[in-house]
Amino acid sequence: MTTPSTAFIGLGSNLGNPLQQLHQALEALHQLAHTTLTDTSPIYRSAPVGPQDQPKFLNMAARLDTRLTPLELLDRLLEIEDLQGRVRHQTWGPRVIDLDILLFGEESVDHERLQIPHAELPNRDFVLRPLLDLEPELRLPDGRRLDLLLAACPCNNLERLEDA
Ligand code: ATP
Ligand code: CA
Ligand code: CA
Repeated sequence: MTTPSTAFIGLGSNLGNPLQQLHQALEALHQLAHTTLTDTSPIYRSAPVGPQDQPKFLNMAARLDTRLTPLELLDRLLEIEDLQGRVRHQTWGPRVIDLDILLFGEESVDHERLQIPHAELPNRDFVLRPLLDLEPELRLPDGRRLDLLLAACPCNNLERLEDA
């Protein structure tokens, strides 16, 4: 049996009761085979990237220990998005749920369907902030510190939701 890898997932929603969508997705991650959901970050409200004529997003991150491969994990995440009724209309448009693989152990993946670390990770405070809440010392596989990336990246007016 292979040893599990630690993966970080970014969750986002701005349609169909976003808070409920996040909780539903966390429950699905909790149920994933060969995978343990080990921690979840606080939830943040953020201004959308891309089209501005859409509701604000709720974003958070989750940490998993998984024996799935990166591509297997991607396919499970896309299934969860489908189950929650995600429809893709517009690049960076509104969505009921978005599940991105942010980091997967120390691995770098460059596949036509999967880039790890997530290509936009260094540019998104709504991803970096919850990752740092989970692991303040986190680095990219190339050694760059996430706290320094956060200090340098554009501001999406994050507001932390009070813990419910
Ligand atoms: P962005 O990737 O900039 O956050 P998005 O999340 O809106 O945009 P989607 O429509 O959800 O983009 O995903 C499009 C495709 O991105 C997915 O089908 C998947 O093949 C690919 N992809 C590449 N790298 C990743 C990753 N690290 N995590 C999730 N999907 C990825
Ligand atoms: Ca995304
Ligand atoms: Ca996505």
